[in-house]
Amino acid sequence: MLKKSKRLMVVASLFLIFSLVFTAAAQAEVKNIILMIGDGMGIGQMDMTRYMAGDKDYKLEMMKMPNVGLMMTSSTEGVTDSAAAGTAMATGNKVYNGAVAMNKNGAELDSVLDFAEVRNKATGIISTNMVTDATPATFAASVKDRGMGGEIAKQILDNDVDVVLGGGREDFMKEEAGEDLIAKAKKMGYQYVTDKEQLKRVMPMNGKVVGLFNDSYMNYIKDRDDLDSKEPSLLEMTTKAIDVLSEDEDGFFLMAEGARIDHAAHAADVPGVVAETLDFDASIKYAVDWARENGNTMVVVVADHETLGFSVTEPINKEALMNIEVSPEYMAGKLVETESGNAYTIDSIQRVFKEYANLELTEREAREFNSNIVNEDDGSLYYQYKVGWQIGSIIAKKNNVGVVAADVRAKSDTGGHTLNSVPIFAFGPETEGFNGVIQNTEFSKVLFEAMRP
Ligand SMILES: [Zn+2]
Repeated sequence: MLKKSKRLMVVASLFLIFSLVFTAAAQAEVKNIILMIGDGMGIGQMDMTRYMAGDKDYKLEMMKMPNVGLMMTSSTEGVTDSAAAGTAMATGNKVYNGAVAMNKNGAELDSVLDFAEVRNKATGIISTNMVTDATPATFAASVKDRGMGGEIAKQILDNDVDVVLGGGREDFMKEEAGEDLIAKAKKMGYQYVTDKEQLKRVMPMNGKVVGLFNDSYMNYIKDRDDLDSKEPSLLEMTTKAIDVLSEDEDGFFLMAEGARIDHAAHAADVPGVVAETLDFDASIKYAVDWARENGNTMVVVVADHETLGFSVTEPINKEALMNIEVSPEYMAGKLVETESGNAYTIDSIQRVFKEYANLELTEREAREFNSNIVNEDDGSLYYQYKVGWQIGSIIAKKNNVGVVAADVRAKSDTGGHTLNSVPIFAFGPETEGFNGVIQNTEFSKVLFEAMRP
């Protein structure tokens, strides 16, 4: 027979074991999911960022997460766009490029966000692009074409998504949506904000917020000072979204997209990719720290596809690239059109390259630039962002950046996306499912599984 003191010790240690088991079980349950998507962010964009912002051995925060996988990214057509890629990750179905959570027969496909709502969780979508653009749309709407922004905005509200933050204000207005969706949102009980100061003041207890910070895309981080932008960073949006969503006792699902990594990559814009990826990485750090502190939270980082085949070459000119302070799109806005309106003046081309990228273009190079920025069918000038692509490609070439060449990009329907597999990084319960090499359709299965009762 045990002495009384020993019996007490046995009881105490049994209690300890039980409580450890229960804590482990409680921690193993996934209450919250934070999905971070770096649009167009392949391994090359990550390596470019860590090399440019640090050195050859520097690690980004996302690279410190414990579970790592590789994801193949095709759509039914081959190289994917963001709509088909988002649909695969959000719903588990491969579709044609341009389709938003809808198959070729017009059937709506349920997303992991829809399932989170079935499980009574709070839901949120964030994008530095328009919040109605392809990637966030695939989680919260179903339409046959990604261009249907007004309809997507309508469905986001109809689906009762609690936190909606990003650009794309135009799609919530009467002209695009057929009704004033901002007025409707306010009536539904959403707090509505339009700049970073207002976002800061949002009260989490209210539970619902729509923040639309630009009519179209949010500004590139590198251009914000010059544009006197009052937009929040992805980090500020992610922080507030988690504050608001975590008020829900049933947990939450949040998708936060670093969207302009893709846009900068299309333009072969190295400093742009670096700035956007660093903001994305800071948001990941916040999410992982929050998950570590609060438990029961899965944080998963992924890209939808890779854009423009980025690589850090040996002769890359790091210093010259990192001295560039604005985006190629911004530079395009500083060019002066000729009187005919179908070219830019040679003088302004040379001046812009010199002033913003410290490059001397010969007159022949400036003329060649002019021949690459007009639409073949009617001879009109490209949109500003696409003129930016040409500027970025010249800057990249002159600084020995490894990217898909401009003439190859011109032959691509996606504007330079590639079939390159992308990395997955994950932290928290049930994230072992992301290990290994998986299809983009298998990605969503891990998320669905994690939310099953
Ligand atoms: Zn893209």
